[in-house]
Amino acid sequence: MSIVTYRRELHTLAEGGFCEFETSKYIKRVLALLGCEIMTLGKTGLAAYFDFGKNKTVAFRAELDALPINEETGLEFAARTGYMHACGHDGHMAMLLELCEIISERNTAKTNVLAIFQPGEELFGGAESVIKTDIFKNIKVDEMYTIHLRPNLTIGELYSTSGVIYCGSSEFDIAFLSNGGHIDANVTDAIECAARTIIYIKDELCTGDVRAISGVIHGGAARNISAPRAEISGTLRYFLPSSGENAKLKLTAFAEGQKCACHVAIRDYAPPQNNSPELFLRYCINTLASPLYFADDFSHYSKVIPKTLYVLLGAGDVAPLHTSKFDFDENVLFSGVSFYKRILNI
Ligand SMILES: [Zn+2]
Ligand SMILES: [Zn+2]
Repeated sequence: MSIVTYRRELHTLAEGGFCEFETSKYIKRVLALLGCEIMTLGKTGLAAYFDFGKNKTVAFRAELDALPINEETGLEFAARTGYMHACGHDGHMAMLLELCEIISERNTAKTNVLAIFQPGEELFGGAESVIKTDIFKNIKVDEMYTIHLRPNLTIGELYSTSGVIYCGSSEFDIAFLSNGGHIDANVTDAIECAARTIIYIKDELCTGDVRAISGVIHGGAARNISAPRAEISGTLRYFLPSSGENAKLKLTAFAEGQKCACHVAIRDYAPPQNNSPELFLRYCINTLASPLYFADDFSHYSKVIPKTLYVLLGAGDVAPLHTSKFDFDENVLFSGVSFYKRILNI
């Protein structure tokens, strides 16, 4: 089948993280025709292994999951599942399936090839769930690659960096609690504590390479009662792991130093993605002007694989990722597949 057909059919199937059952079935049906070993990774993840008896193994990753967005692209193959491939993962899967098909037709390569179809990239734990299956203990992978579509980069061009390309990301939820009370009473105000913390995040926490926002706030009971509860949720982004650790400690200390009782919960989504300089220099692709404040759980694979490279594929002037109108020119997918073929020298 053609790469465009893969992309469109997978687009229509759009499913949420760790519930990519139909998507997974579709991919399995394609892979079953290709003579590779197929492994299941948890409930929905899949891997295709082309074992050519070589000493070296190269891995690629595509993501299975879509976002809980009602699609407004007007495309005839638009998803009607309540989910949408608004992050381009349909394109990523199509490129990797196409590569698998090409490898299968040639039935040889200079390395063994492992294609990973990972669940739940947009949620916590997708890449980690793949690592936990021990697939990388059974198959020693030397290098791993992924390509992600990116609006506002020249259409069809590939970009990456030597070293850090994406930031680390940690998500925080902070709840402030008081007994509430009348306006005259000497009671603590949970909304005031939340507000002071938000200002602190903006004015003091965001220094150096740290960026943070509190994108959600809930709180209060009535206009004339000091708020008994207020909650803020947000994200911390950083390029240096030490900056992230420092920011987490500072935010926790500030929140706990407010007049209200508080509960702070911080979860790490992904560490910064640190590209292998050797891999970047090997392929002479465009250099990204500076690292980006985006995060991807692909960075977890660096814990078990010696060299990784995260590559951006320009989608040109299109709607932003994670929006209901995101779409891209399918011709860019051929650039991605060409790059994958270059990696394998096929
Ligand atoms: Zn995304
Ligand atoms: Zn994505």
